[in-house]
Amino acid sequence: MAFALNTYPITYRSKFTDGKWPQEYLEKPHKTQEEEAAMSEDARAKLENSRNHYEDMPLVNYTSQYGLACFEGLKALPQKNGGLAIFRPDKNAARFARSMEGLKMPPFPDKLFMEACIETVKRNAALGFYPHYESAWEKDSYMTANSVYIRPFTIAEGGIGVNLSSEPYVMVINTPVSSYFSSGRSDAIVSDKVRAMPNGTGWIKACSNYVISALAKSQALKDGYMECVFLDGTNRKYIEEGSSCNIFFYLKSGELVTPELGDTILPGITRESIIELARDKGIKVQERKISIDEAMEEAKECFVSGTAAGATPLTSLTYQGKKAVFNDGNTGELTIEIRDTIKGIQYGKLPDTKGWMVKV
Ligand code: PMP
Repeated sequence: MAFALNTYPITYRSKFTDGKWPQEYLEKPHKTQEEEAAMSEDARAKLENSRNHYEDMPLVNYTSQYGLACFEGLKALPQKNGGLAIFRPDKNAARFARSMEGLKMPPFPDKLFMEACIETVKRNAALGFYPHYESAWEKDSYMTANSVYIRPFTIAEGGIGVNLSSEPYVMVINTPVSSYFSSGRSDAIVSDKVRAMPNGTGWIKACSNYVISALAKSQALKDGYMECVFLDGTNRKYIEEGSSCNIFFYLKSGELVTPELGDTILPGITRESIIELARDKGIKVQERKISIDEAMEEAKECFVSGTAAGATPLTSLTYQGKKAVFNDGNTGELTIEIRDTIKGIQYGKLPDTKGWMVKV
């Protein structure tokens, strides 16, 4: 199971009030991690469930009624030399503030975002809630590695009329997470759904965007695929991204191509990092439009990128009944190199020469 709703005991809450963001750390009911592991499934489920309840918050609000909210996702990773470190939290802080501004909310300051992320991980770890580094993870390039997933999100204030949120809550929860795409299957299908349109919210990490993603992904899984890929809504021709990941194609010409950002694609932090790492390796990277036809005919490797996905190969892409298989169904050399590099930096196996890791 990739994600389990098993929030760690310490959560963060701040409600924008009188122009300020007051800080609150809430300690939810818990036993030690070992005691919890030894509990019956029922008892543990009850305990975990109680951690996800916040009785003093309004149920009827602009988020629950109209999907007006945004979120972030980042990881604190167990380090080879001990401790935990977070991958580029400054980038998530900036994207969160941009998302909030895009939704006309008061932006949450970057400094508070960083503090809340670091502090929740630190406080949970002090209670014993953190994953331990295992050298066995190195064997499969951290595909089976565990980490702490940090989920900052907004919840609007109470209200029932269609409205914007001027006094949102910002919450930060931590939850253990393992590999996202662990099924071993990595075939993808082009969805007939439209995730984002120009002048919409595709560039924002808005909760509402994920309704289409969830519908398309569940259809893909039902049809036997691991992931779905969206085309642009205007021409239905150019590849945009996956359900919760960006996408790269390594062409036979030797160029690594990823769709250029606009207002319909989420600017992924992993995407940005991979572009930089690939360029450092001397690979020609292009951010440009890539049509589904070009991708299916010209790509020799394909992978998706994201906090959850890391750099995960797609073995094939199916569109209108046609299937393009990349690299004879094997993970390609460049994909392996990129995955090893980014995972190596994230788990402290490779030196962090770019200063991307922030120690907890
Ligand atoms: N696109 C979408 C729609 C996503 O949800 C995500 C995950 N945040 C990404 C791309 C990848 O972004 P990142 O690398 O910052 O996780």
